[in-house]
Parts: sequence; C-alpha cells; structure tokens
Amino acid sequence: MFKLAIVGRPNVGKSTLFNRLVGRRLALVDDQPGVTRDLREGEARLGDLKFTVIDTAGLEDATDDSLQGRMRRLTERAVDMADACLFMIDARAGVTANDQLFAEILRRRAKTVILAANKAEGAAGSAGALEAYGLGLGEPLQLSGEHGEGMSELYSALLPLV
Ligand code: GDP
Ligand code: MG
Repeated sequence: MFKLAIVGRPNVGKSTLFNRLVGRRLALVDDQPGVTRDLREGEARLGDLKFTVIDTAGLEDATDDSLQGRMRRLTERAVDMADACLFMIDARAGVTANDQLFAEILRRRAKTVILAANKAEGAAGSAGALEAYGLGLGEPLQLSGEHGEGMSELYSALLPLV
C-alpha cells in the first residue's frame, strides 16, 4: 500500500487533513499543546484512491527550544516510512524559519514531495502560496483541509504516484 506522510511544523493543519482523508477521528485535533503524540497511521480514501496516510503528531507539546530536534527525529522517521511526503505550510502565516528547516530535511531525504499551502480557503492563502514557491519544492497546492478545498488538485498530484 502506498504511504503518504503529512509533515510540517505544528499547527499548519496536518491532523485536520489526516482526519478528512481517513474519515474517522483517529488523530486528535486541538489548539492546545500536548494532545497528540508521535506518528499515526490511517487508511485514506480520496476519490477512488486508497492509500495509507501518516500524521506526524507529537510535535504539539514541543517548546521552540526542543522543537527542532524532535521535529527532525520524528519527521525523518515518517519520511523514511513513506513513499511520498505532503509538506504542509500555513498559507496565512507564510513561510517561517521552521518551514525552512522542514524543507531542508525533505530536500535531502524524501523520495517525493508534494508541497501544500494549507488554510488557503477563499483567497486567504494567495500571498503565502506565492512565498512557498521560494522553498524550491515546486508549485504548491492550495488546500483547505478544514473546508475540503483543493482536494481534486491533491487527487491529481497523487494519481500518478498511488
Ligand atoms: P497540526 O498541528 O499541523 O496537526 O494542525 P491541526 O490539524 O491540529 O490544526 C491546527 C489549527 O488550524 C486548528 O485550530 C484547526 O482548526 C486549524 N486549521 C486546520 N486546517 C485549516 C484550514 O484549512 N483552514 C483554516 N482556516 N484553519 C485550519
Ligand atoms: Mg496534529
């Protein structure tokens, strides 16, 4: 079974998309730190595609000081398990220093990277999506995991891979 890891810094919306793809509340979604841990796998469906999706939880309770080491270890584990990575940034926040660190890990380690600018419902994410081009990981998909926007673009990106 094809495995897709959703990776990115805390709070960009990874678990929300995971829940949408899996259709069950396997991953906890919470604004509060300390709720979800480690890696979580679910059986995803998107149209007629079926694949395994991995949510990299476990970063939510990291402080800024501890984030980078944990982020690296956990992300590297997920990347190594996966056939492809969905690298998620928050299109409203734009590209942050931690996003750059993730991009670096993925450039070196991931087999295939799909870049996604999330929270892009309406036109809210245009500026952030434009900024995301600068990560050098190709054209970002504009998604809203919460509102289900961009799912057909995600489908098209996954179709040749799954
Ligand atoms: P994670 O830490 O990356 O797993 O992020 P979560 O999925 O827990 O989401 C973090 C916060 O972002 C929550 O308050 C979500 O409701 C919110 N969120 C997630 N996806 C979207 C989206 O597509 N649009 C907007 N506006 N908010 C979102
Ligand atoms: Mg999460």
